[in-house]
Amino acid sequence: MNVPVKTNDLEAFWMPFSANRQFKKAPRMFVAADRMHYTTDDGRKVLDGTAGLWCCNAGHNRPKIVEAIRQQAGELDYAPAFQMGHPKVFEFASKLVNVAPPGFNHVFFTNSGSESVETALKMALAYHRVKGNGSKFRLIGRERGYHGVNFGGISVGGIVSNRKMFGTLLTGVDHMRHTHDPARNAFTKGQPEYGAEFADDLERIVALHDASTIAAVIIEPMAGSTGVLMPPKGYLEKIRAICDKHDILLIFDEVITGYGRLGAPFATDYFGVSPDIIVTAKGVTNGVIPMGAVFAKSKIHDVFMTGPEHLIEFFHGYTYSGNPIACAAGIGTLETYKEEGLLTRGAELAPYWEEQLHSLKGLPHVIDIRNMGLIGAIELEPIAGEPTKRAFSCFLDAFEHNLLIRTTGDIIALSPPLIISKSEIDQLFEILRGVLTRAA
Ligand code: PMP
Repeated sequence: MNVPVKTNDLEAFWMPFSANRQFKKAPRMFVAADRMHYTTDDGRKVLDGTAGLWCCNAGHNRPKIVEAIRQQAGELDYAPAFQMGHPKVFEFASKLVNVAPPGFNHVFFTNSGSESVETALKMALAYHRVKGNGSKFRLIGRERGYHGVNFGGISVGGIVSNRKMFGTLLTGVDHMRHTHDPARNAFTKGQPEYGAEFADDLERIVALHDASTIAAVIIEPMAGSTGVLMPPKGYLEKIRAICDKHDILLIFDEVITGYGRLGAPFATDYFGVSPDIIVTAKGVTNGVIPMGAVFAKSKIHDVFMTGPEHLIEFFHGYTYSGNPIACAAGIGTLETYKEEGLLTRGAELAPYWEEQLHSLKGLPHVIDIRNMGLIGAIELEPIAGEPTKRAFSCFLDAFEHNLLIRTTGDIIALSPPLIISKSEIDQLFEILRGVLTRAA
């Protein structure tokens, strides 16, 4: 069928995670972006309060990244990912492991956060199997966890709307509780005081299933998409200790926290708690080219290099793993991060960010505010019987007033590019103050 292509044809494209019918009545389109701003199709400059989808950490249209992509496309566009190599993928891997937290000397490339999650889960299962502990097959996640949209990810994830339509999911999965406890921790700056004991859920799960059946625990050290939930003080340390005690691998999903969001290169650095596998994506290429990167310690990697002959490979990979153009974009991204000190810039801005964010306390319907590095959340009292409506109307109002925010449930999430200036922080909160003051 010969369908004419029109930019205003809103039928052909089935949008992901969008209320398609509603969007098509009032479309919101970006046609360009530069540094901290998007440009809409009606010519407005919109301040990016979310780094795209938590991914454009260096802002938009960054010359090093643009040029790297341009050059690579004209030089080597694609090389088979299996049994063949190309220089850019080795260069990028060695540069990446240099910024990764200590001990993470190996990186496996994917094309998204969801694929990185699947890769990490399979790596954990295969690790135990290669070591001769094939009975360790269970995976433990957390309520409200978000680990992408593939079957492993929605199984270990804990968001009902992402799970309920899709059948039985993976078997052998259990969940700990999430740690969000506004009754005790509302309006905490940084890590909350209360809730380390939520980690004891893991001991209960071990007692129920026996450690000999549990392969890995996956958590977001700071849960982003589900509403920016900070780990209580001592919680991650406890999870780590329980995993160690029972030979359970710990996977940190750092798809959002990776590459500077908390003011340290990774949450692993920020919290000083080291997992066995780190899942990343988004900021690895500044969101510009789809890519994910899974970091593993030598403890994991070396098992595959030295195990029994018939099991030596990790039978896993993607056609586009380590794609040359993605690697070039990644190298340009790392250079930009390094030159501008972006992997730690959040730490410098954090006190100012925190002060401005918490100045919204007391505005109508605001029931909690939380922050860490350059991330923040404002939780609103839901309208009775109409959850999500209040925050979403704030999103629409903010967009009308030239600010891009993100909402999940009745929570407003903020995660601007790490290049934001103090005056742009002021601007962001001035617009948001207006939005919250008007919120019905
Ligand atoms: N894990 C986490 C923690 C995420 O925040 C996301 C995306 N927001 C994903 C996994 C999935 O990433 P992607 O959308 O690139 O598949």
